[in-house]
Order: sequence, then structure tokens, then C-alpha cells
Amino acid sequence: MHAIWPEANLRWPPGQTATTTHGYRRPSTDYGKAEPMGAPEAEHFKYLVERNDYRAIASELVRLEIERGVISISELGADPEAAVAGSPELDLEYETNLTQGCSVYGFYRYRDGQPSVILIHPSLTAERDNFTIVHEYGHHVQRHHRDWVDVRYSLPAARGDKVEERVADAFASTVLIPEDALPTGINTLSARTLATLHSQVRASRSAVANRVVEVASSERDCAVVVCDEEGRVIFARATGDDVFTPARGIVQPGLATLFQSAASAGGHVIGDLAEGLRALSGWIQTDLSADVALDFSGAYAFVVLRPTQVFGREQSWAMREHECVSPACGADFVVDSSVQICGKCRDPKCPECSTCSCEPAAETFCTACFIALSVAEQSGQVQHVCD
Ligand SMILES: [Zn+2]
Ligand SMILES: [Zn+2]
Ligand SMILES: [Zn+2]
Ligand SMILES: [Zn+2]
Repeated sequence: MHAIWPEANLRWPPGQTATTTHGYRRPSTDYGKAEPMGAPEAEHFKYLVERNDYRAIASELVRLEIERGVISISELGADPEAAVAGSPELDLEYETNLTQGCSVYGFYRYRDGQPSVILIHPSLTAERDNFTIVHEYGHHVQRHHRDWVDVRYSLPAARGDKVEERVADAFASTVLIPEDALPTGINTLSARTLATLHSQVRASRSAVANRVVEVASSERDCAVVVCDEEGRVIFARATGDDVFTPARGIVQPGLATLFQSAASAGGHVIGDLAEGLRALSGWIQTDLSADVALDFSGAYAFVVLRPTQVFGREQSWAMREHECVSPACGADFVVDSSVQICGKCRDPKCPECSTCSCEPAAETFCTACFIALSVAEQSGQVQHVCD
């Protein structure tokens, strides 16, 4: 069987290729002699690796791959499955039992003398499969340009693998969300722009948001968030320091409120983030405005968060206060790092009685006389006596 990256194949794809009878390109035999190391292209790649500029490496590989002319890059972006299925260099296979491979749900296996294989573990969404297919093609492309192969394999193994993964990711987002589909101009980073772009390309909401944040570096500081209708953060990335990046998986009640407003206002709303933006530390960033646009499914929203103040923007923060949901306790407390957050309901657990939103308050009422028990009585510190 073939190893994933057989050592013998590392230097396989040279610049010069010859076409075999079945249209599959083979290496020329004088690979390594035609152009010495230190060619301008390799020097450029080295420079980009030092800067961790995976985006620029991917763009360069896209350019070189267009020159190589074996696949239409725009077709790869528009219909990845069809483009790869039509490539004589590759076999596309679906596999439901993947145990190893990439950070995405796929796998690339180089094969010598016959088409290489892209294995896809089908996910629930077509966008994810598209990203996976183009990501795997991003591994394929990294075997086919000699200057890149030389630079990539001059790196220590672990670093080389990591760089290759990042470049494959960058390649996928560059191909799926092409330059000319991106909004131009400095003031165009809006929730609607993101929603529109998402409806035009075959990439996930997160991939679209991430790509736009990367190209919008000149934009006034903001955070781009993708959330669901409960306000749960699916993706978040800030462009600068003015707005912090909220953690994924955490429910932001302020976003849930604006999601509802947007839903009843035809899909778009701009408003103050009244509840602020919650950090895991328990603090909330305040004085933020949110530009919210639902995606075409209506189940998710793109959000652009900005400070309300245009000038003299310093982050405003407040401690989050919470009232215990147990009627027998009702303690007011500040949600700081000493307070436990319930893994189920994501509400803070009361430091007095440990009640959160999902647990029925245990023994709140006496089962004999139905009188509400005091906290002391609930905890057993004081013996309850029936009336
Ligand atoms: Zn990968
Ligand atoms: Zn309590
Ligand atoms: Zn709970
Ligand atoms: Zn009683």
C-alpha cells in the first residue's frame, strides 16, 4: 500500500512535464538540473514562509497552477466536485470511515504513475465538502510546483506539515472566494456584504467571514461574527484591538435579541448591542453597535461589531451581574472567573446555592407544608420546622 507521503515522491513534480498516453503528466528526468536552488521564485516562497504569509503563498500557487493549465481554477471554485472528477490527475473517492488525514474531512494520497486520490468524508453540508475537496486539491498543487516543493521540504518535518496544511486552507478559500467576488473599497465591510458574498460563492459562512476579515485590513477596527438564532457564536474574528474576539460556542444574548429584530425587519438591522459582548472572564464589553444580516437560510446571521464611539475609542467594559434564578435564593452576584458556568445551559451557577437555569431548584419548597425554604434551610444549616 502507499504511504501518504512516500519519501521517494517528495521531489516528484518538476517544472518540466511530459504527457503520457492517458494524459497524466510525468516528471522529466532532469529534474533538479534545469534550475538551481535560489531561483527568484523559490527565494520569494522562502520569504513568504518566513512571514507565515500562507495567503500569499496560496495566491502564488493559484497563479502557477493557472499557468500549468491542467484544471480551470474558476471551475474548481464554482463546482469543485465536477472539476476534480474531470481531472485526469486525480480520482475522487468518498469514504465514510476516515481515521487519519487532514484538519478537514478529507485525505490526499499521492500516487506515482497513476492518478492521485482525493478521499472525502461526506459532511452534512455541501459547503464543507466543497472546502474539503479544494483543500485536498491544495495538497495536490503543492506537489506540482518545484520551487514550492523545494522550499516546503527544506523545512523541518513538523513545521513543513503545518505550513502545508495552512497553505491548503488558504488555497481553498482563495479558490472558493475569488478576488473578484470580494467587496472593494474601505467602507464595504458590512453584514449585508458578507451575506451577499456568501450567497454567491460555494463556501461556508465561516470561510466567507474569515476571508473578508483577512482582506479588510484597512477597515476601521471591528469584529466579524457568525451566530445562530440563539446568539451562539459559530465564528468570530476581530480586525484590530477595538473589539475583542468573542469565544466560539458561547451564547451572546445581545446577538440573539438583534437576530430576532433582523428577522422581523426583513433580514437586516443595525442597533446597539444592549447586553454587551460577554467574555469568558465574566466581563462584558459595552458601547458596541451591531450590524446584523441573516444569511439566505435565515438560520444564521453575519454580524459586524463596532465601537459606538468613532473617536477616542477605548474599550468599555463592565462586570456582568446575575441574579440567581432560584426564587428561594435570589442572590445577586458578579460573574467573574470564580463563578462556574454550567456546561448545559451556559448560565453561571449561583455561588450561594449552585442553581443554574437548567436544574430545577432542589428542595426549594417543603414537600410537607409547601412553604418556601430559606437558603439556610435548603443547605441544612437550619432545621426547617413546618407551620
Ligand atoms: Zn490537509
Ligand atoms: Zn442562588
Ligand atoms: Zn445549567
Ligand atoms: Zn414544612
